[in-house]
Amino acid sequence: MIDVLVVGGGPIGLATALHAHAAGLRVEVLEPRSGPIDKACGEGLMPAAVASLAALGVRPVGMPLRGIRYADRGRAVEAAFPDAPGRGVRRLELQRALTEAIEEAGIAVHRERAERIRVGPDDVAVGARRARYLVGADGLHSSVRRAAGLDRRVRSTARYGLRRHFRIEPRSDLIEVHWGRHAEVYLTPVGPQELGVALLAARRGTWAEQLEDFPDVRDLIAGAEPASVVRGAGPMRQRASRVADGRVALVGDAAGYVDALTGEGLAVGLAAATELARCLADDRLQDYPAAHRRVTWRSHALTLGMLSIARSPVLRRAIVPISSSVPWAYRGMVGVLAR
Ligand SMILES: Cc1cc2nc3c(=O)[nH]c(=O)nc-3n(C[C@H](O)[C@H](O)[C@H](O)COP(=O)(O)OP(=O)(O)OC[C@H]3O[C@@H](n4cnc5c(N)ncnc54)[C@H](O)[C@@H]3O)c2cc1C
Repeated sequence: MIDVLVVGGGPIGLATALHAHAAGLRVEVLEPRSGPIDKACGEGLMPAAVASLAALGVRPVGMPLRGIRYADRGRAVEAAFPDAPGRGVRRLELQRALTEAIEEAGIAVHRERAERIRVGPDDVAVGARRARYLVGADGLHSSVRRAAGLDRRVRSTARYGLRRHFRIEPRSDLIEVHWGRHAEVYLTPVGPQELGVALLAARRGTWAEQLEDFPDVRDLIAGAEPASVVRGAGPMRQRASRVADGRVALVGDAAGYVDALTGEGLAVGLAAATELARCLADDRLQDYPAAHRRVTWRSHALTLGMLSIARSPVLRRAIVPISSSVPWAYRGMVGVLAR
């Protein structure tokens, strides 16, 4: 029997495994997908995410991100991250860098989907594998969350994400957020000749339909060679009744997700991974919910606040004009996102 079985070899599952291994625990990972794992993501690593990865010795190649620019109908406001830059990193590259660290640490990754999950008072079992603790890091639609009875109903309107890459020289070192009437588009430089375009919306539609409201973005990518296929994700809002129960813990999107609106999923998930590994190493999983709350509440509150503004047609049209007339408040928000 091992100490920790991590279900999900996405960035947060792999980071949890690396922390747990460094703390002296015997840890293994279950991830059904082989080869480089791609995912719909805006791919903007906030400065805190860059620092968390560096603490694990993981330095994915990407483009420095100086800050965030909001734009809407010819108006724009921008602010730099206060201390250190973020980084635009393709998910394929993030997975490559984390996988390299996992291999160097000698952590086993089994190419299996977690099925037949059983949670006992003293151990957990997934198929024939047994461990003292089970970590659900299996993303938005977590099967561990469901199997452990930790799913919680979501009542808010569902939002979805799409993303695609284009061979274009990025025009700045900022994440550009374009506010449309019903959607937001995120432009993230991820390479010297590669721009990530991510789109978040409550209405479902094709890539072309969703971009109809964004003539500037359409002009920018018109004629550019696509560098990836369109990928989607959602509904984004997911909730867990608790992030730990008995021998099971949830981390990353599996522990609940609000929205990609503020682009902090990876930073917050990486912070939670550090806390979870500490609690596991101390054999004090009961401390994890409070630690998880401590590192996630600010992001959850900010994202929920932004979402409620974004849902009102009048308020969302006012976001960029108000942000540009109160630049110190906008700088403050970018500072919170950075940390
Ligand atoms: C459109 C969009 C844009 C975003 N933009 C940003 C951004 O710019 N910056 C940012 O920081 N965050 C962003 N996010 C959020 C970010 O993508 C997530 O927070 C992050 O991917 C969470 O990582 P994770 O490891 O928890 O989950 P995932 O990356 O989803 O990984 C979960 C893994 O679990 C595996 N899995 C699933 N089921 C099983 C099973 N039964 N058994 C075993 N394995 C399983 C999957 O194959 C997958 O590899 C965005 C999200 C979306 C949807």
